Amino acid sequence: MDLLEYQGKQLFARHGLDVSAGKAVTSVEEAVVAAEQVGYPVVVKAQVLIGGRGKAGGVKLAANPEETREHAGKILGLDIRGHIVHKLWIEHASDIATEYYASVLLDRSAKQPLVIFSTEGGVEIEQIAEESPEKLVRHHVDSLKGLSRQEALQIAIDGGADDDVREGVADALVALYEVWDKEDATLAEINPLIVTPERQVKALDAKVSLDGNALFRHPENQDLSDTENEDPIERKAKEQGVQYVKLDGNIGILGNGAGLVMSTLDVVAQAGGQPANFLDAGGGSDAEKVKQAVELILANDAVKAVLFNIFGGITRCDEVAKGLIAAFGEIKPAVPFVVRLDGTNDVQGRTLLEEAKLPNVHSASTMNEAAEKVVELAKQTEGAGA
Ligand code: GDP
Ligand code: MN
Repeated sequence: MDLLEYQGKQLFARHGLDVSAGKAVTSVEEAVVAAEQVGYPVVVKAQVLIGGRGKAGGVKLAANPEETREHAGKILGLDIRGHIVHKLWIEHASDIATEYYASVLLDRSAKQPLVIFSTEGGVEIEQIAEESPEKLVRHHVDSLKGLSRQEALQIAIDGGADDDVREGVADALVALYEVWDKEDATLAEINPLIVTPERQVKALDAKVSLDGNALFRHPENQDLSDTENEDPIERKAKEQGVQYVKLDGNIGILGNGAGLVMSTLDVVAQAGGQPANFLDAGGGSDAEKVKQAVELILANDAVKAVLFNIFGGITRCDEVAKGLIAAFGEIKPAVPFVVRLDGTNDVQGRTLLEEAKLPNVHSASTMNEAAEKVVELAKQTEGAGA
């Protein structure tokens, strides 16, 4: 679960990181009032779940109400790489002497938290990693012990932080680690972590991702999820209790069991296709659930063909077939379906499908055959301009 900058900063403040005072607003009028309250000069910042806002014109300094009005008006409604700005964060502007970078994330391959620090802040971390990897300090932390003050100080020294702010950087790293650890985050990033002319160390930006599966331990964080910016199909799926993740391709996928769905994505990719989603219908999917799943998949306009890959265990293939038939009765899909039914009651399921004579539904008996078929059909539909 990704947080907006201002929400991340609230967590930062809770753990003792220095951040500027600010206010979240949704209109130009509110922005002007907020700017008076936090005090000029202010920064008007787009609150969207994507980085690089500065370059896209989503971060502007304002010295007076006229400028606040002008910037807020331009930024609200701005499309930043597909993310429309509905909310602004108005904060008191900071003077910047230096920009550093700091983050804590879960290094899954090392199975350890990883602290990254660099004095080359302000630019994208990927760019630093590519152009000057020697300026990145990477430090794995023993998660049972946590990040000690001594370790943090060593990171600041190794990274080449200015002598007079090493202590301040170490404090910031310890606090950032605490955010990551105590809030069950998977990522906590500050870019830039600035040094002010008064030599204060301060977080000017915040990128925090919380582990959704640990959210039950943090009732105070429950309402941080930003439903307005969430993908509408993913939101609907969540409400229905369906595991759905939107992807970039044009082949809708449904399977039962996360493992089967993952391998279906791989097999489709291998066959030269691009999946449009991950959807796990779960065990024991009944007709109603299958119908809901078809609706979710088809809600994505990019979908040009759909692959149903069902391996019956608890899930009975005849139930899935009934669900498909019910769905076709109500939503009349305009794109072709390939259905592979295997396992519990597969013969009954296939018979039901055959008898129903659903238009544009193709049957396949193996996963590879199904994948090749669906990729071909998607190309045809795409070619036909559907
Ligand atoms: P991003 O572009 O999405 O990463 O947004 P940031 O919050 O990092 O802001 C982009 C850039 O705007 C920063 O790297 C700073 O250079 C600049 N900026 C942001 N806040 C301030 C501020 O308070 N004062 C000044 N002078 N510049 C700021
Ligand atoms: Mn930034």
